[in-house]
Amino acid sequence: MNENNQAASRPKILAHRECRIGPVQCGPRTISLVVPCYNEEEMLPITISELYGFLSECVAEGLAGADSEIILVDDGSRDRTWELISRAAEEHSAIRGLKLSRNRGHQNALLAGLEKAEGDFIISLDADLQDDINVIKDMIRAAENGMDIALGVRKKRETDSPFKRLSAEGFYKLMSFLKVNLVYNHADFRGLSRRAVAALMEYKEVNLFLRGIIPELGFPTVLIYYDRKERAAGETKYPLRKMLSFAWQGVTSFSTFPLKFVSFLGLLMATGSLAVVAWALSVHFFTDNAIPGWTSTVVPLLFTSGVQLLGLGIIGEYLGKMYLETKRRPRYFIEKTTDDESRTKP
Ligand code: UDP
Ligand code: MG
Repeated sequence: MNENNQAASRPKILAHRECRIGPVQCGPRTISLVVPCYNEEEMLPITISELYGFLSECVAEGLAGADSEIILVDDGSRDRTWELISRAAEEHSAIRGLKLSRNRGHQNALLAGLEKAEGDFIISLDADLQDDINVIKDMIRAAENGMDIALGVRKKRETDSPFKRLSAEGFYKLMSFLKVNLVYNHADFRGLSRRAVAALMEYKEVNLFLRGIIPELGFPTVLIYYDRKERAAGETKYPLRKMLSFAWQGVTSFSTFPLKFVSFLGLLMATGSLAVVAWALSVHFFTDNAIPGWTSTVVPLLFTSGVQLLGLGIIGEYLGKMYLETKRRPRYFIEKTTDDESRTKP
């Protein structure tokens, strides 16, 4: 069965695409909730029941179309995450699961879910439900008012550890200094229209940093502020190492400032060394103590070689990125989906 047949086989109560009156859409939009999950066995039972209850409520209130869906993406988990997803999909036809062939990281898992989503308005959120799901209703209303992009923005960071708070603030300050267009305190809790998702799919980069790409799309955007809760179960899947590498990804994927900074440093060193040469010559010609000291030779030598190495390192960092990008490697593989599983069942 191909993709189209598959979509057609799912119940469609309101065929609102056929009942458009001019630009106005009749009937509520179908909503897709996309949730990346990595080792979330502790959290998933709560998440699934809350999200399912919430989506049913949205449908009952006329905010979401009857064929709205929840897409759970298993990002190569090593625990019972897929088992739980697969069982939930059996119980509720509105729940669909994707299993990536291995752990590809939050951003790729999210993208896989966005690509598979069939809704008119597609909302991404984390599996730990730290983001207030009631904000989703505001996102849907924003979509009804013609917005393509609704970004959830955290009001405060008091539920974070002091370290996470400080490092996040430092990161956003650094990014704004580097002139990278980021929305302060917006992570990956957002709603996107179909055309915004289609535009996002045009970005083929392997080093994904979605929150940097979204502001570049430029469709009508609204910011919705909310309070973020603490994780109810399980632990963060973003330890320090992953967080730092994600931040570095953000810097090097969107800014060439570090490269320019190295050139600037090189220029500074070169002009500085001219002054040293002038000083050495003046000592040589106008004084009697012109024995060149070991320190004055070795120290600049070490310093300049250090700067050169730093420069090479940063250039190498970008070169590595270009290397990966030019290969155009696939960003993920879907091992199986709950749609396949339900089809193969007798
Ligand atoms: N996640 C993922 N793949 C990874 C790491 C995380 O899909 O390699 C998911 C995780 O299951 C969660 C979301 O990304 O739904 C955010 O992770 P987490 O809540 O641990 O991050 P934090 O809120 O601590 O920044
Ligand atoms: Mg979290």
